Amino acid sequence: MDLLVRNVRVGERIVDVAIEGGRFARIGPDLDVDAARTVEAGGRLATPPLVDCHLHLDASLTAGKPRHNLSGTLIEGIHVWGELKESLTPDDVFERAQEIVRWSAAQGTLHIRAHADVSAKNEAPVRGLLRLRDELADLVTIQVTAFPQDGIYSDPRNEGLVERAIDLGVDCVGGIPHYEPTAELGLREVHRVFELAKRHNLRIDVHCDETDDPQSRFLEVMADDTVRHGLRGRVTASHCTAMGSYEPYYSSKLHGFLARSGINIVVNPYANSLIQGRLDPYPKRRGFAQLKELLAAGVNVSLGNDVIMDPWYPMGKADLVDAAHLALHFTYMSGLEEIPEMLRCATERGARTLGIEDEYGIEEGKPADLVIFDAPDPIEVIRLRAPRRWVIRRGRVIAETTPAQTTLLGEPVLFRGNPGSPGAPSCR
Ligand SMILES: [Zn+2]
Repeated sequence: MDLLVRNVRVGERIVDVAIEGGRFARIGPDLDVDAARTVEAGGRLATPPLVDCHLHLDASLTAGKPRHNLSGTLIEGIHVWGELKESLTPDDVFERAQEIVRWSAAQGTLHIRAHADVSAKNEAPVRGLLRLRDELADLVTIQVTAFPQDGIYSDPRNEGLVERAIDLGVDCVGGIPHYEPTAELGLREVHRVFELAKRHNLRIDVHCDETDDPQSRFLEVMADDTVRHGLRGRVTASHCTAMGSYEPYYSSKLHGFLARSGINIVVNPYANSLIQGRLDPYPKRRGFAQLKELLAAGVNVSLGNDVIMDPWYPMGKADLVDAAHLALHFTYMSGLEEIPEMLRCATERGARTLGIEDEYGIEEGKPADLVIFDAPDPIEVIRLRAPRRWVIRRGRVIAETTPAQTTLLGEPVLFRGNPGSPGAPSCR
């Protein structure tokens, strides 16, 4: 065997994981195998890789260029980005995005859906991110979405730019219907996105209802188009923050439609926790999709980092466990069974959103991608935002983190859980 991971927790079991030729070869207790390298996991939890379902890699690390977003609002962010994007080059986009991909991989995120702003007339975002997808494929699997930040119909050139990005080879078609000048144009945009995706056999990922306006209801149109076009499982609606302002009757009706359509919802807790509710007097709405209620209704929900040090968000370090931790707070997911669900939203539910389940999961025969956390169980992973002790890609250890050690009056402080929790194990 090429690599053997001893004493690692997978699901409810402590097992050994043997890897050969980049795939999981054998998984079971006390395997009698030799390997070129052995990792002693000491009872730590392993999961398949984290999946970042929504990341604007073309804008990452541009904060302050050409100027800072002084108000911190979504609209000033769009204006700042508009001032910058025509001056970008594919190489500049590639270099910045590559840095974020390195941060992501180091923290166990090995699948990313990126959004390339195709409203940029210079095609720099889409060209830079397509090069990134192809050149970094051994490290991280990337899908690129053609995202018309300025809308498809707000400028007569934009529809052609989306089609041009499709010709260049994107994986998904995007949209932003709530940003169109009228609701009628927003409806037209949704239908156009579905037509294009169907014709070119692409997935769909639309920025949908990212507003506090409870009258913004393009999500129901997306659900209906998903059913009519037979695209169950291939369609994602991202952000969906207007849902945080929908009243209960409409919400319950919508949840049923969404579940039946098989649409995926992506929650992006970082920017939306800061952008939504800006115009409200106190008490302020915080504008989140109804993650808890959607899961209860049987809708697949996953997570994205969305923005990292860009015109919309000056913070961020590409850690999807941090995003899960933040989303838990805004969506009231603190029940005992709900906390582990947040880790599933960051892993296997993300894989379902990206449509990669066939090549995802710790199972014999599948690609040997996994993350070993410095924690014994999912609750401790979320609570501690546990370091990723080892990250393994195609059977190779690509990242290792030595956890920090804190002492108080000369004695170690371990931040271990309550007596019912085994606490973070020490490395043997
Ligand atoms: Zn976004």
